[in-house]
Amino acid sequence: MNTYKLLTPGPLTTTTTVKQEMLLDRCTWEDDYKEITQKIRTQLLELAHVTEEQYTTVLMQGSGSFVVESVLTTAIAKEDKVLIVTNGAYGKRIVQMAQYIGLNYVEYSVAYDEYPVESELNCLLEVDPSITHIAMVHCETTTGMLNPIEMIAAVAKAHNKTLIIDAMSSFGGIDINVAELGIDYLVSSANKCIQGVPGFGFVIAKLEKLLTCEGNARSLSLDLYDQWKEMNKDGKWRYTSPTHVVAAFAKAVEELLAEGGIPARCARYQRNNELLRQRLAQVDMHAYISIEKQSPIITTFLFPYKAFNFADFYAFIKERGYVIYPGKLTDVDTFRIGNIGEIYEEDIIELCDIVEDYMKAVAV
Ligand SMILES: *Cc1c(COP(=O)(O)O)cnc(C)c1O
Repeated sequence: MNTYKLLTPGPLTTTTTVKQEMLLDRCTWEDDYKEITQKIRTQLLELAHVTEEQYTTVLMQGSGSFVVESVLTTAIAKEDKVLIVTNGAYGKRIVQMAQYIGLNYVEYSVAYDEYPVESELNCLLEVDPSITHIAMVHCETTTGMLNPIEMIAAVAKAHNKTLIIDAMSSFGGIDINVAELGIDYLVSSANKCIQGVPGFGFVIAKLEKLLTCEGNARSLSLDLYDQWKEMNKDGKWRYTSPTHVVAAFAKAVEELLAEGGIPARCARYQRNNELLRQRLAQVDMHAYISIEKQSPIITTFLFPYKAFNFADFYAFIKERGYVIYPGKLTDVDTFRIGNIGEIYEEDIIELCDIVEDYMKAVAV
């Protein structure tokens, strides 16, 4: 068996104990299985700093994109209009979903290395009062940028708009006070900072909003309202649930709490990320975005020189036990390294040593 660690932003490296949970075949209608679902739903509310009176958790089968699409098709009605803020490929994916669903939308697009500008957002909202919703990605996994959710949340609140946040690659790794920010729908998935395996995602939804969404969905399978209604009865999923993935996720949440919760995990990611950027800067590999915009999740690095052979670099590193990630930018040559998952300082040190060895080898 080839063993290597994933330095990718999900799927990522998981613990042996999380993987071991998947050795048992569970039955979807047994009480003990339904209780796992209900426990996860409650724990996710706690991690998001929200109460059961105001918020609910809906789990949804599929990868993260399925879950974003389920929110868009359910929360945004025919007569509504969404303002989509984009500065990366995942924001653009929201636009693509809006087109497929046939939503009324406007895109506010900024450069991939820039933040959205508050005054421009205010202006867009004032000019077009038919906008009802705002959607934005928190950590843009394309670049590693951490978008300013406090600012967006304040703008949404001031203009009384429903706020949808794709926190796929940040929730669990960065503390987000969903209640305080007043986020209406926050989306994330099992295989990112909670450190589970891929197969489902989840939505922390404001009840008052979700309750108005019956009949909105243009997709049966992705109807978030129906999914919630069924799941909320007793924890039984509408349609087959990914039992192995759910069991692994329950273990992953337990391990997150044992680590010290989100603040402790965030500190580990932050240390890994800083060390990675410091060490790689010494071999002329620099981050694409400026430091104050950098998330502790994933870093996009510019090629150290023009003729840099990424395929060769990738293979060299993989042979030595780590898998990195290609870039996703079209105008500049980049590659990405994620530092989330079961990754510790010794892994980052080892990786940086391998990168240094490569750079020495190509220099001769
Ligand atoms: C991972 C990710 C998604 C979902 O991608 P899938 O490939 O569908 O899991 C969506 N948004 C962001 C910001 C992501 O990092």
